Amino acid sequence: MQIRNVVLLSHQGAGKTSLTESMLFSSGVIQRLGEVENGTTTSDYDPLEIERHMGINLSLLPFEWQGVKLNLIDTPGYADFIGEVRSGLRVTEGAIVVICAASGVEVGTEQMWGDAEKTNLPRLIFINKMDRDNADFFSTLEGIQAKLSPRCLPLQLPIGSQSDFQGIIDLVTMKAYIGATSQEAEIPSTLQEQAEASREKLVETVVEIDDELINKYLEGEPISNEEILAAIKKSGIAGKLVPVFVGSALQSIGTQQVLNGIYSYLPSPEEKDAFVAKNASTGDQEEIKPNSESPFSGLVFKTTADPYVGKLSYFRVYSGAISSNSQVLNANKNSMERIGQLFTMLGKNQQPVPQVAAGDIGAVARLSLTTTGDTLCAREHPVIFPGIEFPKANFNMSIQPQTKSDLDKMSTFLPRICEEDPSLQTRREVDTNEFIISGVGDSHLEVVKGKMRRKFGVEVKLDLPKIPYKETITMSTKAEYKHKKQSGGHGQYGHVFLELEPLPRGGGFEFVEKIFGGAIPQNYIPSVEKGVNEAKQEGVLAGYPVVDVKVSLYDGSFHPVDSSDIAFKIAGAQAFKKGLSEGQPVLLEPIMNLKVTVPEAYTGDITSDLNTKRGRMLGINPGNGINVIEAQAPYAELLRYATDLRSLTQGRASFAMEFDHYEEVPAHLSQKITTDKNKAN
Ligand code: GDP
Repeated sequence: MQIRNVVLLSHQGAGKTSLTESMLFSSGVIQRLGEVENGTTTSDYDPLEIERHMGINLSLLPFEWQGVKLNLIDTPGYADFIGEVRSGLRVTEGAIVVICAASGVEVGTEQMWGDAEKTNLPRLIFINKMDRDNADFFSTLEGIQAKLSPRCLPLQLPIGSQSDFQGIIDLVTMKAYIGATSQEAEIPSTLQEQAEASREKLVETVVEIDDELINKYLEGEPISNEEILAAIKKSGIAGKLVPVFVGSALQSIGTQQVLNGIYSYLPSPEEKDAFVAKNASTGDQEEIKPNSESPFSGLVFKTTADPYVGKLSYFRVYSGAISSNSQVLNANKNSMERIGQLFTMLGKNQQPVPQVAAGDIGAVARLSLTTTGDTLCAREHPVIFPGIEFPKANFNMSIQPQTKSDLDKMSTFLPRICEEDPSLQTRREVDTNEFIISGVGDSHLEVVKGKMRRKFGVEVKLDLPKIPYKETITMSTKAEYKHKKQSGGHGQYGHVFLELEPLPRGGGFEFVEKIFGGAIPQNYIPSVEKGVNEAKQEGVLAGYPVVDVKVSLYDGSFHPVDSSDIAFKIAGAQAFKKGLSEGQPVLLEPIMNLKVTVPEAYTGDITSDLNTKRGRMLGINPGNGINVIEAQAPYAELLRYATDLRSLTQGRASFAMEFDHYEEVPAHLSQKITTDKNKAN
């Protein structure tokens, strides 16, 4: 059976899920049309998706349309979930870009279009929501041709608009198709002239880019509809043309034409360029052709964690076939993996299948060592496909379990959720003793919190992370402390003189001993050092660790009976604290190196925003309309930078950030941080 693997792309809310639902309904897979608004669609089945009325996961929806198997991948449109889109793009030969007829091309549309361009993915555009208030086919089309590409060519015209939208005119067959049943009819007389002019334009455009047809056309020979279809497909695969469709997913108008369009204009696995993989034995690149007779190879592009089914891995087969109850090689981990029952998926429903062959997409439960991006293949022919490029986890939150039992469960289930999603990371921040989770943005992490609660019954709280401030001194000082208690019986006696000197930033901490003439016996000196080390964990300003100080023990005295380790430890600690207070202590804060990659036009906005964040510009590297801004700024100002940058540039920028060094906190801010911290303690 012929296959088409197709990914749906759009700005959030343009109607991908509704279009999927309408396609499933038109093809008879479902008997009732579900609706996004009441949470009954096949694609957005996750309770979190229903709660938010939006997709957060990609979903795989395989079905048959007129003898062709379509593996449709619905993706989330919201920027935080771009990782899911990248996975979808990686395993398909074609895309449908859905655009709302009222909103036109939006930021998300441009981004997804850019991603599809990068991989030369053949695509169709569906102008959706023609039934909506303010829907306007022609201005949307103009926007598409101006902002996306002049190569976008309408193959249809709408009949009516907004509340009067009734159907479509197909400019290839020159017929009208009315209503959800797609009733074939003659073109309404009022639109006849417009349709003929548009058809003429369509034919001209198509023949112009097809060498064979142009000669025929110029010689005045008739060009058949089949020839037009074939030429559109050929030009689409070559990236020279993008067919534009129109309709209303909600009313199922135009859906059948899009389904036909997928077959007619998007390539099958055999028709698209072969995929390239690295041969794991020789290291050479080799072409993998979608041939069922070749050794098996496939790529795992998504993993989900389910409390009942366990781990579920979705894979795309590139060559050969994989069978239920077999063994394959995981080439990335160089280890054999047992394959149990194979499935194809329809939304959340699994259908067992004995085999999944080249070009097709399937799923398997409970793989033991395989993670997203791994290649599975035949042992005798090990190959590795390039992995999937996931977005950087740049937005950090502290994640705190609410109870002791949540703590235990979190350590079991959080890793499973992270395994599902390679753009999530977790780590313990030693300085603040917090557990930090990093993702693409705040919605991304809110979804993790929701998943923890709904799927695994774990309650967690998310907060902005604490800043790992430190304390130091700015002036050398000397401090003496005598710890002396003589209240009958065995007393306590320890007496030390310390000198504290500031070290340069990043100098760390030093303890040196300069005792002359046995003022303190050698065996007590480690106790003094221990006291200082303990005291340096909490500075005198706000209890942050003390760094960049050199402590010299240069004098003291002892008592032959009353002196002890503990007495010298106390004396060391107290003298150190006294010295800190007298050395004009200050707070230090982490300063980050920041690299922001942004379209030129936003450079001014970014730099002035960084100025308000106490940033320091280091340089701007221009290149191809894109600037890379290098700057430094305090971590405290950058906690929400992932979301700030997104709203400044509507998601058109990306950034990388890493710790560079510590610097003194300006006095006016230091006061507030100190007061807040002391209140909290
Ligand atoms: P997605 O985020 O791209 O998957 O978009 P959805 O399919 O979730 O649709 C977003 C909203 O637009 C929902 O409220 C849909 O009911 C609505 N919608 C989708 N298609 C149409 C349409 O053709 N006409 C109208 N009027 N509304 C639509």
